[in-house]
Amino acid sequence: MTKESGSFMGSTPNGVIIDVHHLTKVYKLGEIEVHALRGITLSIKQGEFVAIMGASGSGKSTFMNILGCLDKPTKGLYLLDHIDVGDLSRDALAQIRNHKIGFVFQGFNLLSRTSALENVELPLLYSDTSGRIREEKAVAALERVGLGDRIHHYPNQLSGGQQQRVAIARALVNDPRIILADEPTGNLDSRTSVEVMEIFQQLNDTGITILLVTHEMDIAAFAKRQIIFRDGKVRSDKITTKRKRAKKVLENMPMIDDEDDE
Ligand code: ADP
Ligand code: MG
Repeated sequence: MTKESGSFMGSTPNGVIIDVHHLTKVYKLGEIEVHALRGITLSIKQGEFVAIMGASGSGKSTFMNILGCLDKPTKGLYLLDHIDVGDLSRDALAQIRNHKIGFVFQGFNLLSRTSALENVELPLLYSDTSGRIREEKAVAALERVGLGDRIHHYPNQLSGGQQQRVAIARALVNDPRIILADEPTGNLDSRTSVEVMEIFQQLNDTGITILLVTHEMDIAAFAKRQIIFRDGKVRSDKITTKRKRAKKVLENMPMIDDEDDE
């Protein structure tokens, strides 16, 4: 478990990267128990692009937090890249989180008094990467999301879509195998949402596994597989028929000015 994350690359015999069995999560609020997850069993292969859908309160965020090792299940098994996450120490978990997983949230979660470049460098501060390499990696990640010309901008000098792209660059900077995105387009207008989906599709094309929570069918249609949660259980799980390519959709969408002018 002290192995470098890279040494697991390609070592998965059946390509399964996320494997959960009978996952349950009960939150205890004083006397009251909230059953957020009531037995989730599913597996996700490397290179998949999965949309997780379902009504508010159905357990989507709880599931994502467990997958991201931000929280532990009450019961059940979680194998991440064939490693039983339940067995790991806090330090080992933090290592895995840092090296295998990138997070993107609805509210971007950028530091406001910090440039795009510095925001993207943040995850590297926990490793022993030198300042120069940190900057190189952060610039490369920003270029990957099309923000090479905005690296010194502060969040309030960027549009919502651009801020979300900075957040995606931050998620990418450690070269994760998996990106977990919890309603990443929830605060964005429709064209900007599709632009963000275009980036996720491009990243997925390079082999990164993506799990994305959304409540919009239009957004889920960009994923390869759609899982619907209801009351902490999987209600349906199917392959997207006629998957949309964001690039194509954008060609037929009206342009909106990508600035912060409401
Ligand atoms: P979703 O993301 O699908 O809206 P959540 O996973 O956030 O659903 O929540 C599932 C259920 O668990 C809800 O009933 C919610 O109120 C409850 N819940 C979520 N987080 C907590 C928490 N930290 N403490 C107590 N209850 C929680
Ligand atoms: Mg949620």
